[in-house]
Amino acid sequence: MAERITGHTKLIGLLAHPVHHSTSPMMHNEAFAKLGLDYAYLGFDVDNNTLEDAIKGLRALKMVGANVSMPNKILVAKYLDELSPASKLCGAVNTIVNENGKLVGHITDGIGFMQSLKDNDIDVIGKKMTIGGAGGAATAIMVQAALDGVKEISVFNVRDKFWDNALEKIEMINQQTDCKVTLYDLADLDKLKAEIASSHVFVNATGVGMKPLEGQTYIPDASYLPKDVIVVDIIYVPEQTALLKLAQEAGCKYINGKAMVLFQGAASFKLWTGQDMPIDYMKEILNIK
Ligand code: NAD
Repeated sequence: MAERITGHTKLIGLLAHPVHHSTSPMMHNEAFAKLGLDYAYLGFDVDNNTLEDAIKGLRALKMVGANVSMPNKILVAKYLDELSPASKLCGAVNTIVNENGKLVGHITDGIGFMQSLKDNDIDVIGKKMTIGGAGGAATAIMVQAALDGVKEISVFNVRDKFWDNALEKIEMINQQTDCKVTLYDLADLDKLKAEIASSHVFVNATGVGMKPLEGQTYIPDASYLPKDVIVVDIIYVPEQTALLKLAQEAGCKYINGKAMVLFQGAASFKLWTGQDMPIDYMKEILNIK
């Protein structure tokens, strides 16, 4: 790595807190090395208090761009010059591209999700999807799914702090796309069962299933997962959540969140470098089947 860095090497950063556990630096640097691209990607421990200065630094250093993760994805929008249509709808940014001094915010989580379906030969375009969760990841998924042509999305969430914001976002998606999105209370299990049964794909986009809620799922039993429904859990640690164990028991096709991580990264990589990430090579490195 040190051998390939010169005075010409271009810098990309990850602005997050915590940052040191992230797989993004490894993923992007491996891809740069594989393709012989003269970029380096580093993680920077940045929180809401230091974000504005970090963005000023990014401009001053003429960095190519950055990824933005928790807790900065929403706040960062106000320091940028422009937002992509999906980013505007989500009210969040996970990728900054420095276009000759103009900082443009994008969100690639939803693109990564949709591409992870495609890569697994799952075609949800023109069909119905049910999503558990209405937080940041769920919003990015519903926005991109709606923009890509998914026909109908049923969203289930508990009545927590995400509820009102979800209602607002869903109204915007319904106004600005041809997709029909409806929000339901996750406590209504009969409705949840019926909506999953009439969907092509069911997605968990909540934190239920990972630490500190590892081993848990809000799906009561395998009867909620008809065999012909494809189950996606966007959690990637653990690789097989309690939901995916139920999906296996029910005989459903299922995938976890690792491919979404890869493809959201690939979409950011393309925005910065104009090149396609070497997907097969990265799948080997990330152990994605
Ligand atoms: P967030 O904090 O924005 O949203 C959390 C969501 O979980 C909300 O909908 C909330 O209502 C729900 N929730 C929390 N506790 C719950 C409970 N006990 N019962 C029911 N619902 C509950 O978080 P986020 O960024 O949207 O992330 C959500 C999950 O998605 C996390 O597990 C995260 O690891 C995963 N994720 C995966 C990828 C990927 O690329 N695979 C990307 C982003 C997030």
